[in-house]
Amino acid sequence: MRSDVSPFKVVLEGEPMELAAFAGQEPSWVSDAAALRDLVRLPSGMALPPRPRGDTSETPVLAPWREGMLATAVLCQPLRLGHPDKVVEARPDRSFGHGRVAFLAEPVWPACKQCETPLELCFQLAPGDLGPWLHAKGSLVAMFCFRCLPGSPETVFLSVVTPSFRVERPAGPTRSSSHTSTTTTRSVGALPVRWQVPPAMAMRYLLDRHGLWETGAGAAGVLLAREDEGIEVVDEVEDYTLDMLEEYSAWAEAVNGVTSQSCGSLGGYTAWDQADETPECTACGALMEHLLDWNGEQFLDGALHVFVCDRTAACGGTLEFVAEF
Ligand SMILES: [Zn+2]
Ligand SMILES: [Zn+2]
Repeated sequence: MRSDVSPFKVVLEGEPMELAAFAGQEPSWVSDAAALRDLVRLPSGMALPPRPRGDTSETPVLAPWREGMLATAVLCQPLRLGHPDKVVEARPDRSFGHGRVAFLAEPVWPACKQCETPLELCFQLAPGDLGPWLHAKGSLVAMFCFRCLPGSPETVFLSVVTPSFRVERPAGPTRSSSHTSTTTTRSVGALPVRWQVPPAMAMRYLLDRHGLWETGAGAAGVLLAREDEGIEVVDEVEDYTLDMLEEYSAWAEAVNGVTSQSCGSLGGYTAWDQADETPECTACGALMEHLLDWNGEQFLDGALHVFVCDRTAACGGTLEFVAEF
């Protein structure tokens, strides 16, 4: 490999782009570990697992970055959606997803303000599951209009509610983006809390090895590591990259315990599918904390990413979301 040629180039929607320019658009991902952790919600009032040992002896290619990996590990709690054939009864003290029943503060099922279709339920998280992450009482309900993609405040209902009324969805079309039937209520289980290393950090460490992280290239790598066409690796390093990603994935999966059966997670790093769009709190101006991701077989390869800020009294626990498909 010639040392004067970067082995990486970023291609966004078919257009080549300077790494530094891309990194400049994604400042939060060129920050240090402490800044990354500031974007993550910490649970309160629950027993925590021991920190990962970070045993990378099985994956020597990762050894140089062991300390950095452990420094960026944060807590998350995977969510699991029950099997579609196993219908459960909706209850306000249990978390559930899909279906035609929810427990709301008002006896009215929310409708899309654009097309007037009754919204489809994504999930209702019970106070017992949500509380440690929200740091407040209430049940979190998310409903979405899958006819009016990609989602705006007019087409989404996202609220912490007091579950006072059992409400049934009026008749109306249902169509999640993945064409999953959402007419039956399915259980949502909160799995044991565990440590999570950032899902897409492998490329950062790879770029570190080539002395490219400090140039800002790492930001592009972190964001685009999972986008097959997003980052192109030129010439000799390609095989090495693939090996590294496989080793990293195996290591991270062992630490994270997040499998393909997870339908989302409370806390942890936002699993961006495309670009980092962490919202800013309108009250305090800081980047908001990641409360949860929800795929739930409803968002293709993406998720409904939910954020919260209660850093100051004025923030008031405001919720925001970004929908990715
Ligand atoms: Zn709509
Ligand atoms: Zn705030």
